[in-house]
Amino acid sequence: LAILAWAAPVVLTPDGLKSGVYLHTTESGEVLAITDTPWSEAEMQHCTGWLIPGLVNAHCHLELSHLCGRIPEHTGMAGFIEQVVSLRSEEPGIEVLHQALTELSVTGTVAVADITNTAVALPAMPELPFPVEVHSFLEILAARPETVDAVWERALELIAKPLPPGRASLNLTLHAPYSVCTALVQRYWQYVSGTDALVSIHWLESDEERLFFEQGSGPIAELYRSWGISFAPASSDPTLHILGTGSQSAHVLWVHATQARPVDIQVSTDAVPDSWYVLCPRANTYIHNTLPPLNLWHQLPGRIALGTDSLAANRTLSLVDELKHLQHYYPELSTEVLLQAATQTAAQALRVNHRYGYFKLGLCPGLVELTNMSSAGRFTLASGTRRLR
Ligand SMILES: [Zn+2]
Repeated sequence: LAILAWAAPVVLTPDGLKSGVYLHTTESGEVLAITDTPWSEAEMQHCTGWLIPGLVNAHCHLELSHLCGRIPEHTGMAGFIEQVVSLRSEEPGIEVLHQALTELSVTGTVAVADITNTAVALPAMPELPFPVEVHSFLEILAARPETVDAVWERALELIAKPLPPGRASLNLTLHAPYSVCTALVQRYWQYVSGTDALVSIHWLESDEERLFFEQGSGPIAELYRSWGISFAPASSDPTLHILGTGSQSAHVLWVHATQARPVDIQVSTDAVPDSWYVLCPRANTYIHNTLPPLNLWHQLPGRIALGTDSLAANRTLSLVDELKHLQHYYPELSTEVLLQAATQTAAQALRVNHRYGYFKLGLCPGLVELTNMSSAGRFTLASGTRRLR
């Protein structure tokens, strides 16, 4: 069996970025060793770009892929929801889904957290150039208490079915504080109580969300009024509203955190010790013309993962585009920290770190060449990815 020794200017090892090391793998990409000198029996593979393990996209909505370029930028939260609601009756179609999965595959993604409302089967995965593991979250929402029974029954039905083809797992989850009434929140946490459920919640995505909870006003309140919905939150704090008895032992991905203040991080991690934070910076720029605050990176070392969100609010599903965007606006963020967030931390957040995220002995974490990095080791406008395994 052939042993390959990969030589690259820089390799992302479990101990950080390293130069002058050789990554040894099998032909199929199983990691054998990282050494200072190549093994004599190994077949040399020379890369001009950096070598990193496969990327883990911790937040996406594949079923919104057909809305690419359909929703104008900077609509704000309520404007975006209104557009998605009016457009989502159109089905994405097999070709669009397949195109999105192919884009994930070739841009270096080995695993993706996919939020879905329908949990339909995905198109044939074996046709992809490289495998992508899709971990799905069946998202439920109900702003009206009288609809909770129906929403809940449908969710349990979908969850009880055999896993639809193409999906590696299916987890029941709550959409966002402003879209789930107290009755649904209580029922959900009772259901997962005592388990280490994997949960993904859209959280503090916009200042509109905070305004809605704190003052009952703003565009979300107006949207609900126009739909005839009266929403009575359990708390004026969005985080406390969406938590309930049983959330303590869950593994929660808090997605967006654009408006998270240090106190919100404290409240969420106090309530849920196994909390992870997923940033989707380009979607935040697209919808709200904003970014998650830089201080999250100081407050949450090793707890931040990244996602692309959907093509309804983004131009590509390439995770490296998110890293480029972040480093462009926050030059303080080092390339190493960003790459670790998109690989090892995201793998931990999605609980796939026993397979992905690191060049560790015995893993097949995917092998990606990161191209066009600057001589100073920073992302450039031309930086991109080439998937090797
Ligand atoms: Zn989302």
